[in-house]
Amino acid sequence: MPPLILLADDSPTVRALAKLELEHAGYEVVEAGDGEETLRLARIRPPDVILLDVEMPQLDGYETVKALKSDPLTTHIPVVFLTGRVGPDDVVRALQLGGHDYLRKPPEPAELLARVGAALRVKQLQDELVARGDELERMSRTDFLTGLNNRRHLEEALRRVGAGAKRHGYPVAVLIIDVDHFKQINDTFGHSTGDEVLIATARRLEASLRTEDVLGRWGGEEFLVILPHTAADAAGVLAERLRGVVAGTPVRTRAGEVTFTISIGGAAAEQEGQHDLLRIADVELYAAKDAGRNSVRIVVSQP
Ligand code: GH3
Ligand code: MG
Ligand code: MG
Ligand code: MG
Repeated sequence: MPPLILLADDSPTVRALAKLELEHAGYEVVEAGDGEETLRLARIRPPDVILLDVEMPQLDGYETVKALKSDPLTTHIPVVFLTGRVGPDDVVRALQLGGHDYLRKPPEPAELLARVGAALRVKQLQDELVARGDELERMSRTDFLTGLNNRRHLEEALRRVGAGAKRHGYPVAVLIIDVDHFKQINDTFGHSTGDEVLIATARRLEASLRTEDVLGRWGGEEFLVILPHTAADAAGVLAERLRGVVAGTPVRTRAGEVTFTISIGGAAAEQEGQHDLLRIADVELYAAKDAGRNSVRIVVSQP
C-alpha cells in the first residue's frame, strides 16, 4: 500500500499542483479544503503525513494542528506546514504547536518530496517502535513454554475481573489445576517429555474453554482458570469436563505415550463481599489430592 498523504489547503490550485507531484512519486493523496475537513478525514482514515496550509478560513492551520495533536487518534501523524509566511515567528509557532516541518508556498517539487519523505521516515520509525512495544507487552504476559497467559497476566486479570464482579454483582469462579504425580513423569520420561505434557495439557484446556474465560500457567505444573459470570454449579461442570479431557486420552510424546491425570480445586464467589478465591481454591486442591487425585473439589466462598 502506498503511503497516504492528507493534503489540506483552501486553494484548489495549490492542491492540484502538490497532488500531481505527490501522486507521481507514488503516494496516495486525499484532499481537504479547510481545517474542519482535515480533522474529519484524519480521524476517519489516519494518513501517514499531513500537509497543512496555515491560512485557511474558519479553522486555520494552527488551530487544526492543535486539535490534531490533542486527539490520540491523530497525535502521532507528522504535520508539514504549507505557508506563505516564513518569518521566524511563524516558523517557531508552527513547530511549537507540534508541527514536524514546514514548506514555503508554492512548494518547489523536489523540496516538497524531500520533506514529505523525511516526515514519512519518522512516522515509519515511530510505527515500528509502537509495534515493538506492543510485542514486548504481549511477551511480558505470555508463558514461554505453553504460550498461555503467564502469572503476571493472571494476577492482573484476577484484579480486573474481581473488581468488575464486585461493581456489577455477577458471580466469578477460579479453578486451580494441578497435574497429578508430575514429578514421576519427569523422572520416568525426562524433563523434556514433562514439557511436552505441559504443552499438550495447555492445548486441551484451552480448547475446552470459552473466550471470556482466562486461562494461564500459574507456575510449574499448575494452571489457573478465571471464570467470569460463573457460579459454583457451572464451574463444577466445567472442571469435570477439563478433568475428563486430560484423563481420557494419553499424550503422544517423542518418548512414547504418556497417560496422566489432573486434580482441580475451585472456589466461586456468588455474592458480594467474598474474597481470596485463590487461597480457598488452593485448599480445595489439597482436598482433591487427598481424595485420591484425578478429582475435582469446588466450594462457594462465603462473604
Ligand atoms: P502431586 O500429584 O501432589 O501434584 O505431585 P507432583 O509430582 O505433581 O507435584 P510436585 O510438586 O512434587 O512436583 C512438581 C514437579 O514439576 C517438580 C518440578 O521439577 C516439575 N516442574 C516444574 N516446572 C516444570 C517445567 O516447566 N517443566 C518440567 N518438565 N517440569 C517442571
Ligand atoms: Mg490558504
Ligand atoms: Mg503443584
Ligand atoms: Mg502436581
